[in-house]
Amino acid sequence: MKKLRRLSVILLLVSSLFMTGCDATQILDVISKVAQGVQQAMPAIQNVVNTFSNIFGNNNNNNNNNNNNTAVNNTNTQQTADANTNAQANVVTIDPNAEDVTGNTGQNANAGQTQSTASVEEIIRGAQISTPYDQVGTESTLAEAAAVKNRYGITVLDGKSWRDQWNSATADKWTSQQIAQFAAILEKLPSGFRSCTKGFVMQKDLRDNDGNEPSGLGGNPIMISSKAVGAGGWISMEDLVVHEMTHQFQAKNADAMRQWAAKFWPNDRLVRPSISDYGNTDPGEDMAECVAAYFKNPERMRQHDPERYEFIRQNIWK
Ligand SMILES: [Zn+2]
Repeated sequence: MKKLRRLSVILLLVSSLFMTGCDATQILDVISKVAQGVQQAMPAIQNVVNTFSNIFGNNNNNNNNNNNNTAVNNTNTQQTADANTNAQANVVTIDPNAEDVTGNTGQNANAGQTQSTASVEEIIRGAQISTPYDQVGTESTLAEAAAVKNRYGITVLDGKSWRDQWNSATADKWTSQQIAQFAAILEKLPSGFRSCTKGFVMQKDLRDNDGNEPSGLGGNPIMISSKAVGAGGWISMEDLVVHEMTHQFQAKNADAMRQWAAKFWPNDRLVRPSISDYGNTDPGEDMAECVAAYFKNPERMRQHDPERYEFIRQNIWK
């Protein structure tokens, strides 16, 4: 099955190139559309899209605003490891075993049938996992890091190679530019929400025990993957930062997490689809995905689900 599918994808790609002629933008557009249509986890397609993007200097950002497609990550109940999301070509790049997962946004869950993969108490405990900062990183010496700490009380750490029973990471460092980008996001957040987060570590290869590559880990300190947010990555810095910070909100606002679960996941079952497929995993990921969407485009969130929008506005965004 997989081989046949792959062959048909390659044929589609090749034929689309011939039909399009030589205009680089059109080629990119067609490839993106083919990739969207296929909706399967095909690392090869992402590579082709990236290759063309690089060659033609086109960032191919057309799809970035809409779809956060997610590989199914076996979300363990102990720590909030986040599935890698591919926002560029609707193709899951990492886990080939997840290739039967479709990439639509929040449309694949059946209300009343989709069961949460974790109980709300497990989600809260997972978000409350804390690791001594010196085990996972060292404080960045950049001036921008000091400014972030002064202004927001958030420690910016360069990662250390690290492993616990669920995940591992290899070391990476923040650049000045990344911290400036991070600070610009923090500046736009309401202070109550922002103050739940105390530390952020930049790592390179985050992995879970099954070989999946999470974009981030939502404990304290939060860890994010430079591969996920860097060139050729699969998620924007703002989506990742706000998503992970929502887990720290959950860690410190257990009652709000319980209320969200009771409202949108009674008896651990989804009432209405979340804003993304990954949000349909469990109430914690649902909230994190919706808060990230609210940050980026509140109106889109309101239109998708006025009740989740109101909950965020009244109980989280303050
Ligand atoms: Zn998450």
